[in-house]
Order: sequence, then C-alpha cells, then structure tokens
Amino acid sequence: MTDDRFHVYDTTLRDGAQQEGLNLTVADKLAITRHLDGLGVGFIEGGWPGANPKDTEFFRRARTELDLKHAQLAAFGATRRAGVKAADDPLVAALRESGAPVVTLVAKSHDRHVELALRTTLQENLAMIRDTVSHLRAEGQRVFLDAEHFFDGYKSNPAYALEVLRTAAEAGASVIALCDTNGGMLPDELADVVHEAVGTGARVGIHCHDDTGCAVANTLAAVKAGATHVQGCANGYGERSGNANLFTVVANLQLKRGFDLVPREALADMTRIAHAITEVTNVTPNSHAPYVGVSAFAHKAGLHASAIKVDPNLYQHIDPAMVGNDMRMLVSDMAGRASVELKGRELGYELTPETSRELVERVKELESRGYTFEAADASFELLLRDTVAGERRRHFSVESWRVIVERTRGGELISEATVKLHAKGERIVATGEGNGPVNALDKAVRAGLERLYPELAEVELIDFKVRILEGAHGTDAITRVLITSSDATGEWATVGVDENIIEASWQALEQAVTYGLLQAGHHAD
Ligand SMILES: [Zn+2]
Repeated sequence: MTDDRFHVYDTTLRDGAQQEGLNLTVADKLAITRHLDGLGVGFIEGGWPGANPKDTEFFRRARTELDLKHAQLAAFGATRRAGVKAADDPLVAALRESGAPVVTLVAKSHDRHVELALRTTLQENLAMIRDTVSHLRAEGQRVFLDAEHFFDGYKSNPAYALEVLRTAAEAGASVIALCDTNGGMLPDELADVVHEAVGTGARVGIHCHDDTGCAVANTLAAVKAGATHVQGCANGYGERSGNANLFTVVANLQLKRGFDLVPREALADMTRIAHAITEVTNVTPNSHAPYVGVSAFAHKAGLHASAIKVDPNLYQHIDPAMVGNDMRMLVSDMAGRASVELKGRELGYELTPETSRELVERVKELESRGYTFEAADASFELLLRDTVAGERRRHFSVESWRVIVERTRGGELISEATVKLHAKGERIVATGEGNGPVNALDKAVRAGLERLYPELAEVELIDFKVRILEGAHGTDAITRVLITSSDATGEWATVGVDENIIEASWQALEQAVTYGLLQAGHHAD
C-alpha cells in the first residue's frame, strides 16, 4: 500500500461471509484474498481468529501462502471481556498472535446495547476499549475500531456515542469506523452524524449495510462529510440485504470523485475480478450489478441503437473498458437495422445495407414465432453468417434422429437416441444413452462426430432452460429451449423453438455443436 490518506477496507471474508447460503473454506478465503489484492484494496479483513478455528487457520496459512502486493490483512475481534485485563484475555491473545499487522476491534457505542447485550456499565465499556486498544498498540499492531450500532447509538445518546469515539482515538486507534449495523440510515441524516463525529478530531471510517438500499449512497455521503476509510464487501455480499458493494464504491469514488484508490489497470480488471470471486463463492453473479454486471452496459431499444452507432458515449455513463466491461447490443424485436448492424460489427462483420435489411426481416419473423436472440448470441451469429453467405452452411447435415424413453422395471428412466448424420462425405449412424432425451441426443451427436472433430470432446452442455410460450390466436403453446455450452475459450448460448420440446432442444443442440466447431476453427462447407 502506497498511501495511507484514504483506506479501501474489504470485509468480504468476515461480514460478507454472513450471507445466507455462503460457505467459504480456508482455501476459498485465500483465493478471494488474492483476487482482492489484485484489485489493489488497502486492507482485507480475514476473519475472527480465536473465535472461529477456520479463521485462526486462515491467518496461519496466510503467513506462508500469500504474497500480497497491495493489501494488509486485518484480524477482527472484540474488546476484552468486562472485568479482566486485556493482557489476560485469551481472545485478545488470539488477535495478537494472528500475525496480522492490523486488528479491527468491534466495540459497542450504543448505550442500550452496552447495558442490555453486554450487561456492563457505560464506564466499564469505555475502559474495555481503552485497555484493549492500548494493549494491542503496545504490542506493535495497528488498531482500527468498528463502532457497532453507532448511528442508532447516536440517536439514543449522542454524548456517549461520541465519548466512545474519543476514547478509542485517545487510546491509539488510528481509525474509528462508524457502523450502520442495522442498515436503516438514509444519506442525509447519516452525513450529519458523520460530520459531528469528524468534529471530534478522530479519523472516521464508514461501514454500511444495505437494508434501505442506500449502502453505497450512505458510504459516499459519509466520505463527503469527511470519512477517509470505506468498508464494503465484494459484490455487495452480506447478511440480509448485504453490505455496501465495494466495487461500486471504488468505481464511484475513483471515476466520479477523482479519488486515486486502486491502480488504473486494476480497475480495468474489476469486472473479471468480480466474476472470479463469484466462481469461488458459487453465488450466481447479479447481471444487473452496477459497473461489473453482464447487463451493466447492454442496450436494447432500437431507437437508441442508431445513435449509439454514431457515438456510444451518448448512452453510457462511463467507457465500460475503464472497469473491464463491454458495451453489448441486444438483438430484439424492438431493434431496427442499426442495432443489427452494430451487433454484426461487434461480432466482426461489416454488413451491406441489403444484408442487414434481410437479417432484420429474418430476426423479426423468428422473434414473432417465439425465438429470442437477446440471450442467444451464438444463434444470432449463425443466422448472420447464413444471411451473409446466402445459404445455410453446416459442418454436418441431419438425415434423421429418434429418441426413446424407457421406464425400466426397477423404475429407472433411461433415454436412448439414434442420429443419422452426413459429414465429410460419410453417412454416420450413432447412438447415445442418457438420463434424459436431450442428454441422449447430445451424446449420440458427439459419438457420431467426435472421430471427425476431436475438439467436440471439449464442448460441454452447461445449462438448459425451457420456457413454455402461450400460443397466439388459439394455436398450441410452443416451447422455447435455451442451451448454454462451453469450451476452453468461453461460453455460448443457442435457441430452439417448436411445439415439441425435443425438436426445440434438438435445434438448439445442433446450433450449439455447429458454433463449437466454428470456435475450434473449422469452416463449414
Ligand atoms: Zn456489518
């Protein structure tokens, strides 16, 4: 870390890990720490050593397994228990022995919480803070203090809340982070309280929860009021509605307020880092997340598309490349020729006016039958290629397919598929068995083609979505199938539509394989 004037403090591994359904192993925590260090945050709170064996283990392994470039680790823990010396409290000892250069102590600053939850006197709470902070300082650690329930405490007893802050600062805490623990604050009232706190002369930080949907706004308001230390969690993880999203906070402060918080190259890698962390947490990424969501810079309306083609900056608040994201055009029935041309250009095709007009007609006609290209980029690209070529080009053609589903005497369901294909001048008959008809068809196609195209072994079907669309004007309902496939180079989605679910699946599957072969560099005849 180069600059101590403003702190970016991550608490994903401690407060973020409180999110329902989120379970992190020590290895996961080490991986997330590396990602956050890659972003260039100043401090990473690793957990509560002594209170949680996994966290003790994290700090032990961090010493030998991590080589941090930017961040310092912080160990989280409480002030000493009432009535004992900090030097004699085993939980304080665990903080000392964690090896972390920073200790963040949580302390009560709300009078009612001191009396009801801690069951001690207001004076003893101040003594606990004074004793613990000065003890750890004397032992050579830097100390930050999280003033829990600070804003609610200030409402209940402002003099006492500010006394907690002064006591911690005088004992040697270098930052006192004011916590909106219940997350109920709004930006204007929060800013007033932060302003009062800054008036004590202590260095003030901010820790917000998103229960009012204002965690990021509250954090920015606190900074405006004089806070110089911001806490948050990767992807806004946290219990209830989550914590302030650290990525949004950093991007806002750096790109909108001119703060120099993380290296510019690291900020330009933020989208990748945000997604890499979701791979570790196994939490589905929020596609609408500000700055880093897949949809954060996606445009749909045809009306906008023609202007975007002239100047993309007219319709985006920043250049998405600054945070490592892309502008993406969605092809939809709202779109006209301009968005189709733009999408074509994004895929590397310059379309003639005639070709784009023809393509728009085909997209509109297919969308009226239930296809969607917004979520099926690969199907759109195949349609575009076919339109440009003036014919349908495929690596293989299909003579027929058949699937049977059998319920065995043991009650097991088995699907068996046979496909008859033509490829490279050969007629191929292949079979496949699977746990469902689509799985069986997928296996049969691969069995038939893998000898000619070994790269197919890399292609995996990773998601399969089915949606029943209401039939129009008394016709039967139709089924839309979206298939997502992947190989080492990336992911792609294809779409099929039919009254029959297996035919719809087959269409999406056939395109998925075709697109995979194109990705592997095979030209279609
Ligand atoms: Zn919290």
